[in-house]
Order: sequence, then structure tokens, then C-alpha cells
Amino acid sequence: MLDISIPRECVYQQFDAHPGPCPRCGSDLEVQKATYLVTTRDEERMTDSFIVENDMGWFCRQCPTLVVDPRRVSEFLLRQKAEADIGREFAVVGLVGLEVIPEERKELPLGTDENPIPLVWFTNIPRGTMPD
Ligand SMILES: [Zn+2]
Repeated sequence: MLDISIPRECVYQQFDAHPGPCPRCGSDLEVQKATYLVTTRDEERMTDSFIVENDMGWFCRQCPTLVVDPRRVSEFLLRQKAEADIGREFAVVGLVGLEVIPEERKELPLGTDENPIPLVWFTNIPRGTMPD
């Protein structure tokens, strides 16, 4: 299971079936399911954020790096567009450890003072742009 407490570097890279070796150390990458916080903005205006669980991340076996295809992120956002306020820019900012939320808080809305999002920020946050 993925240890989400490790701060990782997120690299955007377009790929089809497989991203190839780790862009930082050259070791093997493996795909893993994880939960991400994706933020969007429209120039200076912050727009909606999303917690999304999927298998878009390829994690290095040797170093704290993962590779994400930004097209997967924009595809996800386009599917939300009817009900959400989504700006032209997006960023995958980190991993969310939903499993660390105590049982008594599970019913509370996430992202409030009483129940903050258990987020581990990436050490770098690449920005992507929605396709026209
Ligand atoms: Zn690596």
C-alpha cells in the first residue's frame, strides 16, 4: 500500500500506455491508485477544488516521484464542468489520506476547520491548462 505521508515530487508528462522510467532516477514506475487534491483557478480567481481517487499516478519504486499525464486531469475536470466552476488552470497539489480521518469525523464535511483535508503537499506543484 502507498505510504502517502512521504512528500513526493509530481512530474507532468504525456504518455500513452506507459510513462517509461522515472524522470528523476531512471528506476521503474508502477501505477497505483491514490486520492488527489486537484485545484483549479481562473487567473487570480480560485475556482473549485476536487478530491479524486483514481489510477492516474505512476509511482517510482526508488525515489519519491510520481508521473501524471495532465490530459487525465483535464479529462476528469471536463466531466465535472456542468456542475462545477472550473477555471482554465489546474494543479494536482498533493495526496489525500482519507483513511487517516477518525471515524467520528467521517460524517463532517471535508475541508472545514473541524475536519481539515488530510493533505500531503507535493514538493513541487506543476500547473496545467485546460484544452480549448
Ligand atoms: Zn525515481
